[in-house]
Amino acid sequence: MTNVEVKKDGYLSIGKTEAVEISVDTFLCKGCGICLELCPRKVFEWSKELSEKGVHYPIPVNADKCVKCKLCELLCPDFAIAVKW
Ligand code: SF4
Ligand code: SF4
Repeated sequence: MTNVEVKKDGYLSIGKTEAVEISVDTFLCKGCGICLELCPRKVFEWSKELSEKGVHYPIPVNADKCVKCKLCELLCPDFAIAVKW
């Protein structure tokens, strides 16, 4: 994961490579874990800290493993994830 830039930018938890940028809106995220469970490449890990909402949120630490399937974006019930390239 050396070529992954991971950062928190305001409400956004971002994992970025030259190929893709995955962002999680931690204001919208309720911490249900669907994205962690269903991402086929295990891109996400839970945050250690709590969000403003008081839940752990996903961090796209393995963004370099992302295959751009957009499952996470489609299945997040709170429309909190955006996958862009
Ligand atoms: S699926 Fe959406 S609401 Fe659930 S943990 Fe992932 S980002 Fe948060
Ligand atoms: S687009 Fe697919 S591979 Fe990439 S983080 Fe989302 S679910 Fe995982």
